[in-house]
Amino acid sequence: MRKFTSRNLLKNNKLKVTPQRTLLLDIISKYGHIDTDSIVTEITSTLPSVSVATVYKNLSTLIENGIVKEVNFPGKKKMYELNINKHIHLVCSKCGNIRDIDMSESLLKEKFRDIIDDEIDDFNINFYYTCKSCKKS
Ligand SMILES: [Zn+2]
Ligand SMILES: [Zn+2]
Repeated sequence: MRKFTSRNLLKNNKLKVTPQRTLLLDIISKYGHIDTDSIVTEITSTLPSVSVATVYKNLSTLIENGIVKEVNFPGKKKMYELNINKHIHLVCSKCGNIRDIDMSESLLKEKFRDIIDDEIDDFNINFYYTCKSCKKS
């Protein structure tokens, strides 16, 4: 995970820095990929007075500003992440742990253009495997 501070991320995007927003970004950064239920649980354990509606509102503000990205995995709840660049997901079929594999978007599209002889508009690629710690146990 790249190094960043939630505060700078908000400032760079000209968004007001609030404790809820920085906490929200810290949580997403810590988990890498996280669903809303877990986000709410994490936030309310630190800031008990924050309402679920506020969490959702802040989350959608961050999405609208291109800071947070929503990702869909078949059979899973919607997840949120800070890696807004197009990438491939490596998902452990045992524990569900998700890793980002950064690959050049243009290179991938180019490759498929050759195969299908047409333009790729978008893609969502997941690879499934058994992670090292699951293999050990
Ligand atoms: Zn695993
Ligand atoms: Zn990702």
